Amino acid sequence: MRIAILSRNKKLYSIRRLVQESRKAGIRCDVINPLECQLVIDGKQSRILAGTVTLPTYDAVLPRIGASITEYGLAVVRHFEILGIAAINSSQSIAESRNKMRSLQVLTGAGILVPSTVLTRSTRGLKAAVEAVKGLPVVLKILQGTQGVGVMLVHTPISLGSVLDTLRTLDQDVIVQQFIVEGAGRDFRAFVVGGKVVASMMRTAPQGEFRSNIHRGGEGNIVKLPPHYEKTAVRAAKVLGLDVAGVDLMESNDGPLVIEVNSSPGFEGIEKATGINVGAAIVQSIKKTLK
Ligand code: ADP
Ligand code: MG
Repeated sequence: MRIAILSRNKKLYSIRRLVQESRKAGIRCDVINPLECQLVIDGKQSRILAGTVTLPTYDAVLPRIGASITEYGLAVVRHFEILGIAAINSSQSIAESRNKMRSLQVLTGAGILVPSTVLTRSTRGLKAAVEAVKGLPVVLKILQGTQGVGVMLVHTPISLGSVLDTLRTLDQDVIVQQFIVEGAGRDFRAFVVGGKVVASMMRTAPQGEFRSNIHRGGEGNIVKLPPHYEKTAVRAAKVLGLDVAGVDLMESNDGPLVIEVNSSPGFEGIEKATGINVGAAIVQSIKKTLK
């Protein structure tokens, strides 16, 4: 068995761990930089060149595409799929989960609870948008942000107007979202692999911060998720078609809300917080899929 990991950086913790666990499981594993991939369409000879060399056939490709290269990265994943190589996760599921509005549309369409959210370009409608998400303060998010960057908490109409003007000038579409007061500063990260939660942690934001991302200084601690949280996380990954997913959930008065679903979740934070071998769980799941 031979797999390819698509990543720009071999040295990242999660990539090193995936390579290590693949080798342990007797799988040959190459790390390929998606930006070095040239995608050749040529009838039956369609192929991918890594720099100058044609890539061999792999049993599966594991895309770990960063937000900064989503578009090119997705074209690369699509090419692997065209060549008949199984992508874990698929290009479509990555595309759907990467966009924060689109993923919430898919989730809500499947009956999964998410915070009230408005996608808007209207200046005239701003007041109505704020009312639709139950009033100020509101959370603003750019559609493609990750690791907490691009997520803002806004308390007043004046700052809301000026922040939106700025983002529009920067050509950023944004969503306005209900601020979940009851669960603020804390969330759950459920790591879903092959339809099961393999590890979960509670993340707590540092003092004076509402974002609980580990990259923003949040602290992760192992938790056993209540069964309905677990079920929600598994369903969220499933409706987005993700074999590997990091599902963020918040506690609300109405039950667990899905905040977002990550298609290339890093697992340094969660392995360290829980002591669970997430890398091995991913590799074993790929092995099972390919059998
Ligand atoms: P990112 O992709 O940058 O991680 P998220 O949507 O997951 O974006 O938001 C980052 C963090 O901000 C979440 O982990 C959570 O702690 C906090 N957060 C996000 N949305 C809300 C919300 N609607 N209400 C309260 N806190 C939120
Ligand atoms: Mg998140």
